[in-house]
Amino acid sequence: MALVVQKYGGSSVATIDKMKDVAKRIIKEKDKGNDVIVVVSAMGKSTDRLIEMSRQASSNPSKREMDMLMSTGEQVSISLLSMVLSDYGYDAVSLTGFQAGIKTQGVHTKNHISDIDVKKIKKYLEAGKIIVVAGFQGMNNQGDITTLGRGGSDTTAVALAAKLNCLCKIYTDVDGIYDVDPRLYPEAKKLDSISYEEMMEMASLGAGVMETRAVEIACKYNIPIYVASSKENKMGTYIKEYDESMEGKAITGLTVSDDVLMVTINNVSYKAKNIALIFEKLAKYNVNIDMISQTAPINGYVNVSFTTSKEEIQYINEITKELKECIGDIEVSKDIDITKVSVIGIGMMKQSGVAANVFKIFADNNIEFKQVTTSEISISYTIESEDKEKAVTILARELNL
Ligand code: ADP
Ligand code: ASP
Ligand code: MG
Repeated sequence: MALVVQKYGGSSVATIDKMKDVAKRIIKEKDKGNDVIVVVSAMGKSTDRLIEMSRQASSNPSKREMDMLMSTGEQVSISLLSMVLSDYGYDAVSLTGFQAGIKTQGVHTKNHISDIDVKKIKKYLEAGKIIVVAGFQGMNNQGDITTLGRGGSDTTAVALAAKLNCLCKIYTDVDGIYDVDPRLYPEAKKLDSISYEEMMEMASLGAGVMETRAVEIACKYNIPIYVASSKENKMGTYIKEYDESMEGKAITGLTVSDDVLMVTINNVSYKAKNIALIFEKLAKYNVNIDMISQTAPINGYVNVSFTTSKEEIQYINEITKELKECIGDIEVSKDIDITKVSVIGIGMMKQSGVAANVFKIFADNNIEFKQVTTSEISISYTIESEDKEKAVTILARELNL
């Protein structure tokens, strides 16, 4: 008898009818003789609706209260799914993050799982119950409810699988990991398997199918993840350790992220301490920076640009005010019509020329890019959002994705 963690995302439990389908899949696993822990997200778009309600309640809701509010979505789905399972004659119990022993640390709305006390889970498993755990939430050492960042139910599922050393099955509205988001490029190809490193890179660069932190945990503890459809019975994709069978192409996937805010600070007097101050202020507000570029000095002044997530826009005005007090007459502009397109592949470590190839494809098709960054296994370009579809289609075709 094996233990399996299954996770169902919001669209898979969006209605009671969908929950009934999900329950049948859970029961199939249980009937194989396996112990099953199920992690679920909030129904459909209910987390978005909760966030919208908070905006009506307050112009600047506290992050602690946001966590309290957002965590309620998952409590609705765990209780309803447990009721459905019980009606089908299976003994199920729902647990909030706290009840499941999920301990977190960090700042509200962006917590990390620090440990899981699995005593209660083990007790219920021994009693033969199907355990339905609320994804996306836990409790910090102050006893406050916390959440793990959007898409965080993946992290709950993988962290539980890592703690209990078992396979994690992520069931979603797509039947596996594709080399390009099939919603953006319908000719995208499904991958049989992908390495942790490539999936981590794809997730962090915009492939919303998996939460980045979840893949990081799976990689750290070497826990295989199987991603498949919650509706169909097609073969899905394994996320696992890199092996020779994955070798071949330089590029495994292409990702797109619209969650890009580009901030440019003009007229910065060219002193190392000024540049340091900009990034100190950003760190003080926990603004996570992605790409950074700086122009060559002209008459002792430089322009500094960086990209971050659009949700950080709220802090930029405050930071600008503080910077003006310290480094004088700077001008700050914000551009939200920016998209980041990235190509990813472990093969790039051995094969050169990928960047040159993409530059040529952009040049031949009149696509201007603003910034470029590279890692060992990816190259990212920021472009105008209006060029997104054209860029994705042309790149995917030219790069044989
Ligand atoms: P869930 O609610 O189950 O967590 P998500 O919406 O978070 O589901 O993730 C599934 C979505 O991820 C798919 O609908 C798909 O459009 C998107 N996606 C983005 N990149 C990829 C990719 N490379 N392969 C598969 N799906 C992708
Ligand atoms: N319900 C949360 C969200 O919408 C967590 C998740 O779906 O994984 O972000
Ligand atoms: Mg998700």
